[in-house]
Amino acid sequence: MESQSPICALKGIGAKTEQLFHKIGVYTIGDILLHYPRDYEKLPPIRTVGELLGEDLRDGMTAAVSGRVERVPLVRNSGRTSVTSLQLREQSQSISLVWFHMPYLKNSLKQGEFYVFLGKISKKGSRISIDQPQVLAPEAYLEMQNSLWPCYALTQGLSKNLIIKTVRQALEQLDLSRDYLPEEIRQRHSLGEYNYALENIHFPESETALRTARNRLVFDEFFQFILAAQLQKKQMEQVKNEFVFAPLTDSWVDQVLKELPYQLTKAQLRTLTEIRQNLRAPVIMQRLVQGDVGSGKTIVAFLAMVDCAQSGCQSALMAPTEVLARQHYENFCRMCEQYQLKIPVILLTGSMTAKEKRRAYDRIALYSKAMVVGTHALIQERTVFDNLALVITDEQHRFGVKQREHLYQKGNKPHILVMSATPIPRTLAIILYGDLDISVIDEVPARRLPIKNCVVNKGFRPKSYEFIRQETDKGHQAYVICPLVEESEGLEAENVIAYSEMLQRELPQVTISCLHGKMKGALKNQIMEDFAAGRIQVLVSTTVIEVGVDVPNATVMMIEDAQRFGLAQLHQLRGRVGRGDEQSYCIMVNTSDGERAVKRLEILNRSNDGFLIASEDLKLRGPGDFFGLRQSGLLEFSLGDIYQDSAILKAAAEEAKRMLADDPGLASPDHEAVRRQVMKYLDACVETANL
Ligand code: ADP
Ligand code: MG
Repeated sequence: MESQSPICALKGIGAKTEQLFHKIGVYTIGDILLHYPRDYEKLPPIRTVGELLGEDLRDGMTAAVSGRVERVPLVRNSGRTSVTSLQLREQSQSISLVWFHMPYLKNSLKQGEFYVFLGKISKKGSRISIDQPQVLAPEAYLEMQNSLWPCYALTQGLSKNLIIKTVRQALEQLDLSRDYLPEEIRQRHSLGEYNYALENIHFPESETALRTARNRLVFDEFFQFILAAQLQKKQMEQVKNEFVFAPLTDSWVDQVLKELPYQLTKAQLRTLTEIRQNLRAPVIMQRLVQGDVGSGKTIVAFLAMVDCAQSGCQSALMAPTEVLARQHYENFCRMCEQYQLKIPVILLTGSMTAKEKRRAYDRIALYSKAMVVGTHALIQERTVFDNLALVITDEQHRFGVKQREHLYQKGNKPHILVMSATPIPRTLAIILYGDLDISVIDEVPARRLPIKNCVVNKGFRPKSYEFIRQETDKGHQAYVICPLVEESEGLEAENVIAYSEMLQRELPQVTISCLHGKMKGALKNQIMEDFAAGRIQVLVSTTVIEVGVDVPNATVMMIEDAQRFGLAQLHQLRGRVGRGDEQSYCIMVNTSDGERAVKRLEILNRSNDGFLIASEDLKLRGPGDFFGLRQSGLLEFSLGDIYQDSAILKAAAEEAKRMLADDPGLASPDHEAVRRQVMKYLDACVETANL
């Protein structure tokens, strides 16, 4: 079997299950192996019946109970279902064990023997039972207790056991013994072999094994990423700038600058100048603009696009979400009108109807000066640009080789600008964005008041709601971020809905709406638009609003279960307020009693500086703390974290450099496997970008 074989080639996966796997992004056998656990757990300690019943049992929790089988289990039939049951006793106390469709247990469970029964507690009133428990010999159980058990991202209908079984099968079926990474590199950095790494990331023999496995896979992610970026750079260095730009004097840009209600910061101006010079340089631009949340990247992008339009060229801005794309679009339309710029602004997103899309395509073909704003749909096949000079990606999305090729095939070789709010130290930025020049907007607009922060416990909720009410009375708006629900997106949606209903009861006079990932695109857009226009006062949301959303009138950000988010993510969320002239507030509700949670949140409480926050957070974590929260969720690594794993990142960069110095195109037969791996990596990037 091949890693590209469809997942249904495995045993026990029919059409229905296959659909479920597609839901979690798993299409091939190779994919399931890359569906890494999001966490691990140890099996619960063995309890006797008495001990277990003495504990505070919750419905659905996993427990292991041991005991002697005193009698032959009872088998009865209820309709077509055979139910096998057994009472496990200790003195006067007992627990029932129940199995469905397993009548043979009657013979296999031996009277007088000790067993361990592992399963989920089911509580009905005072009756405690364990349904469908696994039956294990005590010695076997003790051995299993040393291992860590994977916890996967699930979806409704796809059980943990099924995923585990599928991963096991995939590991058995695929030949993973050929390692693309040269032995020499593995040796130099004490990296495990690929098959060992995959095996142990899913089913770690021990914590040490898990660490070794993870290190190897993180190295791979970084190594492939850096190689891809470098290859891309080489390819691009040769692209001549064929666009003719208008002189810098007497420009529309200056005109807009004069009329803006604020002055650009020095850092914004410097960045804008760098970009405008690049647009007029002999080779095309490839630049990263890095600036903390609220540093004002959008206006810089807009002005660069105005520059293009004045020179008779098209430009495009790509946003990671619909919500953000729409917001940029409305913002740009407003500015064009306000500053009397005769520039057609065109929106293009995935949720538009076929007719709307067709119209957008037609307009793109028609207007040589168009500003196009959209999601990644806009680089998909149908889009025909007439004269595209600049492509900007906002927040996080890189613009990979494949995307460029796509445009090239249509005769476009645009300048490229990537905008990111991920706070990364310059040394890391140079590694991660080695293919780009870097501008840093290291200054936030001066007039702004710093956000007032507080970390509170659950008891403070009523006061927070009252505070939100006061702010809405003043005409301001608020966000409430709901707790994360790990298990599934469906639950997350329910959770947000329930929370907003509760809040509505607390604040009956306030207009409250909710927003979550499961909503249809059009509805999401409508809600975001209503919020931006002030028709909604409080928005209860999941983290879907994390990136980029800009509603300056919002002054309160309340974050439930704040301790469960990464600090960088909290910083992004908090960045949704403090965007206007009014004083803004961030209320972080800490629902754990852990001391460390308090300490971490204190960092945010004290600072509004993204760089500082990330590095302080790193200091607080122990070296073994890699299953905690991921900081750099904004970059596209599935395991690697650029802060925690910065040593591996540097090692990978070094090796990539060495390899390319030897063999710039990875053309030698020795590097054939590496080259193939990098190409595969690039293809995967394109696929996720096009989702
Ligand atoms: P980000 O860098 O996070 O993308 P935005 O571009 O969304 O930030 O800008 C945040 C807010 O700051 C916007 O409402 C924008 O109009 C405003 N803004 C941008 N530059 C300035 C400035 N120099 N002075 C005052 N406000 C500004
Ligand atoms: Mg932004």
